[in-house]
Amino acid sequence: MLYLFLVYGAECVAPYCCGGRLNSPLMLHPIWKGPLDIPGGSRQSPIDIRVRDSVFHPNLAPISTQYDPNTCLHIWNNGYSFLVEYDDCTNKSVVSGGPLENPYRLKQFHFHWGANNDWGSEHTVDSKVFPAELHLVHWNCSRYRTFEEAIMEENGLAVIGIFIKLGRHHEKLQKLVDILPSVRYKESLTEFNYFDPSCLLPTCSDYWTYSGSLTTPPLTESVTWIMMKKPIEVDHSQLAVFRSLLYTAVGEEEKNMVDNFRPLQPLMNRTVHSSFEPALKMSNFKKADVQAG
Ligand SMILES: [Zn+2]
Repeated sequence: MLYLFLVYGAECVAPYCCGGRLNSPLMLHPIWKGPLDIPGGSRQSPIDIRVRDSVFHPNLAPISTQYDPNTCLHIWNNGYSFLVEYDDCTNKSVVSGGPLENPYRLKQFHFHWGANNDWGSEHTVDSKVFPAELHLVHWNCSRYRTFEEAIMEENGLAVIGIFIKLGRHHEKLQKLVDILPSVRYKESLTEFNYFDPSCLLPTCSDYWTYSGSLTTPPLTESVTWIMMKKPIEVDHSQLAVFRSLLYTAVGEEEKNMVDNFRPLQPLMNRTVHSSFEPALKMSNFKKADVQAG
């Protein structure tokens, strides 16, 4: 049961060698039996978002999040990341709009990060890697009865991805950072209440969206990804606390929880849509305007 919960509860984490973002392949986390775990699907995640190849979709409205901080339950270290989990029995905390045809309920959020500031994110933008990435995981409660069912099905999940870069201290994140030492060890869980994750969204509402997969087993292709264009900033001391967590349980040889990301996957026959007009096309348009005028 615990195993199932770990696999299903942890939306994505994987510390191994990754297209230039190298961690020793000898250090495979137990969740991955080997790099060949990749099932060869056609809609796997994460991907490199190529800005010039993304297609502006004028009908993509901004996403709308409505989170009730009273639904925040606890935080726990599942051995791959730390998860803040929410009560998903009702529609009190949902995301809707954008590419989503109906509201999706918030289940949990978690992060991926690197051993240092040179890598850590799962997605990249024109090959640019960020030191960390936040994932807010939601499930389609109109189509499916449970999170576990939605994971396995078409349009089952919606994940908001937010890039994290090094910069200013993030005051709202600090409440979370302060509690992390209490979940340092694998399988530790502690009460964590009244946290509204919308405080972690960037102020700019622009995003890219594409069809993809979970980035941990079972790697099912059930995810509508919504990747926010603008990163949020955290400072070095906050990332340092992320890196002080452990993959290991009490009594085991300590292994720091770092590089918990999956390698990039091929885009294959997919289109990344953007909710905004790419700046490059805008400038071309203006240039053409000037020449015509
Ligand atoms: Zn994830």
